[in-house]
Amino acid sequence: MEATAQGNQPLVLIIDHQAFNRQQLRLLLEQSGYQVAEAKDGTEAINVFQQLHPDLVLLDAILPDMDEFECCAKLLSIKINKYIKVLMITVIEDTESVEDAFRAGAADYVIKPFYWPVLRQRIKRLIEESQLHQKLVTANQELQRLVTIDFLTQVANRRWFEEYIEQEWRRMARLQQPLSLILLDVDFFKSYNDTYGHQLGDSVLIEIAKAIRYIVQRPGDLVARYGGEEFAVILPNTDVLGSTEVGQRIYSAIQRLAIPHQNSLVSSHITLSAGLATVIPKPGSNFEEIIAAADKALYQAKSAGRDCFEHNNLLFDMHCKSNMRVLGKS
Ligand code: GH3
Ligand code: MG
Ligand code: MG
Repeated sequence: MEATAQGNQPLVLIIDHQAFNRQQLRLLLEQSGYQVAEAKDGTEAINVFQQLHPDLVLLDAILPDMDEFECCAKLLSIKINKYIKVLMITVIEDTESVEDAFRAGAADYVIKPFYWPVLRQRIKRLIEESQLHQKLVTANQELQRLVTIDFLTQVANRRWFEEYIEQEWRRMARLQQPLSLILLDVDFFKSYNDTYGHQLGDSVLIEIAKAIRYIVQRPGDLVARYGGEEFAVILPNTDVLGSTEVGQRIYSAIQRLAIPHQNSLVSSHITLSAGLATVIPKPGSNFEEIIAAADKALYQAKSAGRDCFEHNNLLFDMHCKSNMRVLGKS
């Protein structure tokens, strides 16, 4: 760390209203291999912080434009995708100030005049801690992604589906808005595997997932792999018309893929059957209601000959044999 500053060296932001102090610290930091940014007051500090995302902030306790503890708290509340620590450097040494600094989120507190070999070690330790924390956060995010994503198709897995539908069920119950669910099942997929092999079967599932994901793009919507060759689409705030339209678009997209399936009994290509359900959830009711409704509709679509959609519309307590069926016969 003793070399001169380089592109990937940690960046330290010095906040001090006195140019001389900033200059002195800059020199010491640069000699230790850090990159340095400066701010003369709280306002400038916030701007620089937002632009440069430093690895550590050295904050002098006397600022001309704002309370130093307020400045510390403000910096730490800025939402950036990085874990940054603040070290306060001050001449003030009273119990209250020390407590205020830590309450504002400061990670360390150094009294002036500082002894550079000690301060240098503290800076090094704080930056290492931040970097370690950052690595843990990144690893944790990746872990989160891995436990919620289906490895083969890269859409949400069953586990995330269950959590999400329960959450959206409760949210829609609160807002008294319709929630729609589409369950899709590939027709005669066992015979596809038997004919073309399991590996090609896997690529078909990947293609289908991609096609569905391309269509279902609203931020609150979720595409999931519900089971082996079954997919689910959760559509919050979506009524019968809306979910029917999504169903139609999925249907057309799968048709456009035109994946040959010579042993399908309904088409020369891969087809899907689907069950749609739309419900305004009653407060306190169970989310499994909508899964059962969509599942029932899917079963009816299969019984009706496959390659079609059925809509189980619970908005009016009725099963709606929607005209999605006409989409069916390809
Ligand atoms: P139906 O029209 O009634 O849905 O008939 P089906 O053959 O699609 O249904 P069935 O439930 O009898 O068989 C599902 C098949 O899906 C059997 C299984 O091998 C296949 N499958 C499930 N998961 C995967 C997977 O990850 N990859 C591949 N290639 N095939 C899978
Ligand atoms: Mg199935
Ligand atoms: Mg199937």
